[in-house]
Amino acid sequence: MISVIAIDGPAGAGKSTVSRRLAQALDWQYVDTGAMYRVVGFIAVGAGVDFSDVDGLRKVCDNLDLRFEEEGDGVRTIANGRDVSHAIRSAEAGQLASKVSVVPIVRERLVALQRAMGEKRPTVMEGRDIGTVVFPDAQLKIFLRATVEERARRRCLDLEHRGEAADRAEIEAQIAERDARDSGRTHSPLRPAEDALIVDTTHEGIDEIVEKILTLAAQRQVT
Ligand code: C5P
Repeated sequence: MISVIAIDGPAGAGKSTVSRRLAQALDWQYVDTGAMYRVVGFIAVGAGVDFSDVDGLRKVCDNLDLRFEEEGDGVRTIANGRDVSHAIRSAEAGQLASKVSVVPIVRERLVALQRAMGEKRPTVMEGRDIGTVVFPDAQLKIFLRATVEERARRRCLDLEHRGEAADRAEIEAQIAERDARDSGRTHSPLRPAEDALIVDTTHEGIDEIVEKILTLAAQRQVT
Protein backbone atom coordinates (compact mmCIF):
# COMPACT_ATOMS: atom_id res chain seq x y z
CA MET A 1 0.00 0.00 0.00
CA ILE A 2 1.16 3.52 -0.83
CA SER A 3 1.89 5.65 2.24
CA VAL A 4 -0.87 7.80 3.68
CA ILE A 5 -0.76 10.15 6.63
CA ALA A 6 -4.32 10.84 7.81
CA ILE A 7 -5.00 14.17 9.49
CA ASP A 8 -8.47 14.43 10.98
CA GLY A 9 -10.16 16.88 13.32
CA PRO A 10 -12.81 19.59 13.58
CA ALA A 11 -12.87 22.92 11.73
CA GLY A 12 -10.11 25.31 12.77
CA ALA A 13 -7.93 22.76 14.57
CA GLY A 14 -5.04 23.48 12.19
CA LYS A 15 -5.45 20.56 9.76
CA SER A 16 -4.86 22.48 6.54
CA THR A 17 -1.74 24.30 7.67
CA VAL A 18 -0.24 21.21 9.28
CA SER A 19 -1.15 18.93 6.34
CA ARG A 20 0.23 21.31 3.71
CA ARG A 21 3.46 21.74 5.64
CA LEU A 22 3.86 17.99 6.06
CA ALA A 23 3.22 17.36 2.36
CA GLN A 24 5.79 20.02 1.45
CA ALA A 25 8.40 18.61 3.84
CA LEU A 26 7.91 15.06 2.55
CA ASP A 27 7.31 16.08 -1.07
CA TRP A 28 4.03 14.17 -1.02
CA GLN A 29 0.63 14.90 -2.53
CA TYR A 30 -1.72 16.96 -0.32
CA VAL A 31 -5.46 16.25 -0.48
CA ASP A 32 -8.01 18.47 1.25
CA THR A 33 -11.18 16.37 1.43
CA GLY A 34 -13.14 19.21 3.05
CA ALA A 35 -12.67 21.17 -0.19
CA MET A 36 -14.32 18.26 -2.03
CA TYR A 37 -17.47 18.42 0.15
CA ARG A 38 -17.45 22.21 -0.20
CA VAL A 39 -17.32 21.90 -4.00
CA VAL A 40 -20.22 19.44 -4.10
CA GLY A 41 -22.36 21.70 -1.86
CA PHE A 42 -21.46 24.76 -3.91
CA ILE A 43 -22.12 23.15 -7.29
CA ALA A 44 -25.37 21.53 -6.15
CA VAL A 45 -26.72 24.87 -4.90
CA GLY A 46 -25.58 26.61 -8.10
CA ALA A 47 -27.42 23.98 -10.16
CA GLY A 48 -30.55 24.27 -8.01
CA VAL A 49 -30.21 20.69 -6.68
CA ASP A 50 -31.88 20.27 -3.32
CA PHE A 51 -29.92 18.31 -0.70
CA SER A 52 -32.86 15.92 -0.34
CA ASP A 53 -32.60 15.05 -4.07
CA VAL A 54 -30.42 11.92 -3.97
CA ASP A 55 -30.41 11.41 -7.76
CA GLY A 56 -29.53 15.05 -8.34
CA LEU A 57 -26.63 14.83 -5.90
CA ARG A 58 -25.45 11.58 -7.46
CA LYS A 59 -25.32 13.32 -10.84
CA VAL A 60 -23.42 16.28 -9.39
CA CYS A 61 -20.81 13.86 -8.01
CA ASP A 62 -20.63 11.68 -11.11
CA ASN A 63 -20.21 14.68 -13.43
CA LEU A 64 -17.67 16.37 -11.23
CA ASP A 65 -14.31 17.09 -12.81
CA LEU A 66 -12.20 18.13 -9.82
CA ARG A 67 -8.55 19.11 -9.81
CA PHE A 68 -6.24 20.54 -7.19
CA GLU A 69 -3.39 22.63 -8.59
CA GLU A 70 -0.50 23.51 -6.37
CA GLU A 71 0.44 27.16 -6.56
CA GLY A 72 3.20 28.59 -4.38
CA ASP A 73 2.15 27.98 -0.78
CA GLY A 74 -1.48 27.38 -1.65
CA VAL A 75 -3.65 25.04 -3.65
CA ARG A 76 -6.17 26.10 -6.30
CA THR A 77 -9.39 24.11 -6.57
CA ILE A 78 -10.69 23.73 -10.12
CA ALA A 79 -14.18 22.25 -10.46
CA ASN A 80 -15.70 21.60 -13.89
CA GLY A 81 -13.10 23.92 -15.40
CA ARG A 82 -13.81 26.82 -13.04
CA ASP A 83 -11.52 28.13 -10.30
CA VAL A 84 -13.68 27.91 -7.16
CA SER A 85 -10.83 28.27 -4.64
CA HIS A 86 -12.17 31.50 -3.23
CA ALA A 87 -15.89 30.79 -3.52
CA ILE A 88 -15.74 27.57 -1.49
CA ARG A 89 -13.97 29.24 1.44
CA SER A 90 -16.91 31.34 2.68
CA ALA A 91 -18.60 30.48 5.99
CA GLU A 92 -21.74 29.74 3.99
CA ALA A 93 -19.89 27.22 1.81
CA GLY A 94 -18.65 25.55 5.02
CA GLN A 95 -22.21 25.17 6.27
CA LEU A 96 -23.37 23.82 2.89
CA ALA A 97 -20.50 21.31 2.92
CA SER A 98 -21.44 20.17 6.38
CA LYS A 99 -25.08 19.69 5.30
CA VAL A 100 -24.35 17.90 2.02
CA SER A 101 -21.75 15.67 3.68
CA VAL A 102 -24.42 13.82 5.69
CA VAL A 103 -25.92 12.44 2.45
CA PRO A 104 -24.68 8.83 2.03
CA ILE A 105 -24.40 8.92 -1.80
CA VAL A 106 -22.16 12.00 -1.58
CA ARG A 107 -19.91 10.32 0.98
CA GLU A 108 -19.78 7.12 -1.08
CA ARG A 109 -18.75 8.94 -4.27
CA LEU A 110 -16.22 11.25 -2.61
CA VAL A 111 -14.64 8.50 -0.52
CA ALA A 112 -14.10 6.48 -3.74
CA LEU A 113 -12.47 9.53 -5.32
CA GLN A 114 -10.29 10.10 -2.25
CA ARG A 115 -9.12 6.48 -2.23
CA ALA A 116 -8.26 6.69 -5.92
CA MET A 117 -6.23 9.86 -5.25
CA GLY A 118 -4.37 8.28 -2.31
CA GLU A 119 -3.60 5.12 -4.24
CA LYS A 120 -1.60 7.01 -6.86
CA ARG A 121 1.18 8.43 -4.74
CA PRO A 122 2.19 9.05 -1.11
CA THR A 123 -0.36 11.42 0.34
CA VAL A 124 -1.14 13.60 3.32
CA MET A 125 -4.94 13.63 3.42
CA GLU A 126 -6.96 15.83 5.73
CA GLY A 127 -10.61 15.53 6.68
CA ARG A 128 -12.97 14.11 9.26
CA ASP A 129 -13.00 10.38 8.46
CA ILE A 130 -9.66 9.69 6.80
CA GLY A 131 -8.26 7.51 9.59
CA THR A 132 -11.59 5.83 10.33
CA VAL A 133 -13.17 5.24 6.90
CA VAL A 134 -11.18 6.42 3.88
CA PHE A 135 -7.81 4.91 4.83
CA PRO A 136 -8.30 2.79 7.97
CA ASP A 137 -4.88 1.24 7.23
CA ALA A 138 -3.05 4.57 7.00
CA GLN A 139 0.46 4.24 8.39
CA LEU A 140 0.08 7.31 10.58
CA LYS A 141 -3.13 8.85 11.91
CA ILE A 142 -3.25 12.19 13.66
CA PHE A 143 -6.34 13.76 15.20
CA LEU A 144 -5.92 17.48 15.79
CA ARG A 145 -8.12 19.35 18.21
CA ALA A 146 -8.34 22.74 19.91
CA THR A 147 -10.90 24.57 22.04
CA VAL A 148 -13.88 26.14 20.24
CA GLU A 149 -12.73 29.58 21.45
CA GLU A 150 -9.28 29.17 19.92
CA ARG A 151 -10.68 27.80 16.67
CA ALA A 152 -13.08 30.76 16.40
CA ARG A 153 -10.21 33.15 17.10
CA ARG A 154 -8.18 31.63 14.23
CA ARG A 155 -11.13 31.75 11.86
CA CYS A 156 -11.70 35.46 12.70
CA LEU A 157 -8.03 36.20 11.99
CA ASP A 158 -8.32 34.40 8.63
CA LEU A 159 -11.38 36.42 7.67
CA GLU A 160 -9.76 39.69 8.78
CA HIS A 161 -6.69 38.91 6.66
CA ARG A 162 -9.00 38.47 3.71
CA GLY A 163 -10.64 41.82 4.44
CA GLU A 164 -13.94 40.21 5.46
CA ALA A 165 -16.07 41.10 8.48
CA ALA A 166 -15.74 38.73 11.43
CA ASP A 167 -18.09 38.48 14.39
CA ARG A 168 -16.41 36.28 16.98
CA ALA A 169 -19.61 35.19 18.76
CA GLU A 170 -21.31 34.30 15.49
CA ILE A 171 -18.29 32.33 14.25
CA GLU A 172 -18.06 30.47 17.55
CA ALA A 173 -21.73 29.52 17.23
CA GLN A 174 -21.22 28.38 13.61
CA ILE A 175 -18.24 26.23 14.57
CA ALA A 176 -20.16 24.66 17.45
CA GLU A 177 -23.09 23.96 15.13
CA ARG A 178 -20.81 22.37 12.52
CA ASP A 179 -19.04 20.28 15.21
CA ALA A 180 -22.38 18.99 16.45
CA ARG A 181 -23.53 18.06 12.94
CA ASP A 182 -20.19 16.45 11.98
CA SER A 183 -19.96 14.45 15.22
CA GLY A 184 -23.63 13.51 15.44
CA ARG A 185 -24.24 12.18 11.93
CA THR A 186 -24.91 8.49 11.36
CA HIS A 187 -22.45 8.01 8.50
CA SER A 188 -18.75 8.48 9.25
CA PRO A 189 -19.13 10.79 12.24
CA LEU A 190 -16.17 12.90 13.26
CA ARG A 191 -14.21 10.91 15.84
CA PRO A 192 -10.59 9.90 16.31
CA ALA A 193 -9.58 6.46 15.03
CA GLU A 194 -8.63 4.14 17.89
CA ASP A 195 -5.02 4.17 16.77
CA ALA A 196 -4.85 7.94 16.11
CA LEU A 197 -2.46 10.15 17.99
CA ILE A 198 -4.44 13.03 19.48
CA VAL A 199 -2.66 16.37 19.32
CA ASP A 200 -4.13 19.44 21.00
CA THR A 201 -3.12 22.54 19.03
CA THR A 202 -4.68 25.13 21.39
CA HIS A 203 -1.34 26.16 22.88
CA GLU A 204 1.20 24.48 20.62
CA GLY A 205 2.76 26.22 17.60
CA ILE A 206 2.50 24.83 14.07
CA ASP A 207 6.28 24.33 13.81
CA GLU A 208 6.35 22.10 16.90
CA ILE A 209 3.38 20.06 15.71
CA VAL A 210 4.82 19.54 12.22
CA GLU A 211 8.18 18.53 13.73
CA LYS A 212 6.47 16.10 16.10
CA ILE A 213 4.57 14.42 13.26
CA LEU A 214 7.64 14.26 11.01
CA THR A 215 9.61 12.62 13.83
CA LEU A 216 6.84 10.05 14.30
CA ALA A 217 6.71 9.40 10.57
CA ALA A 218 10.47 8.81 10.52
CA GLN A 219 10.29 6.50 13.57
CA ARG A 220 7.56 4.44 11.94
CA GLN A 221 9.45 4.51 8.66
CA VAL A 222 6.53 6.07 6.86
CA THR A 223 8.17 7.19 3.66
O1 C5P B 1 -12.50 20.82 6.46
P1 C5P B 1 -13.59 21.75 6.01
O2 C5P B 1 -14.02 22.73 7.04
O3 C5P B 1 -13.30 22.41 4.70
O4 C5P B 1 -14.84 20.77 5.76
C1 C5P B 1 -16.11 21.26 5.42
C2 C5P B 1 -17.17 20.25 5.85
O5 C5P B 1 -17.07 19.08 5.04
C3 C5P B 1 -17.03 19.73 7.30
O6 C5P B 1 -17.73 20.52 8.23
C4 C5P B 1 -17.63 18.35 7.21
O7 C5P B 1 -19.02 18.39 7.41
C5 C5P B 1 -17.39 17.92 5.79
N1 C5P B 1 -16.30 16.94 5.69
C6 C5P B 1 -16.62 15.61 5.88
N2 C5P B 1 -15.67 14.66 5.72
C7 C5P B 1 -14.42 15.00 5.38
C8 C5P B 1 -14.07 16.35 5.19
C9 C5P B 1 -15.04 17.32 5.37
O8 C5P B 1 -17.76 15.29 6.21
N3 C5P B 1 -13.52 14.03 5.19
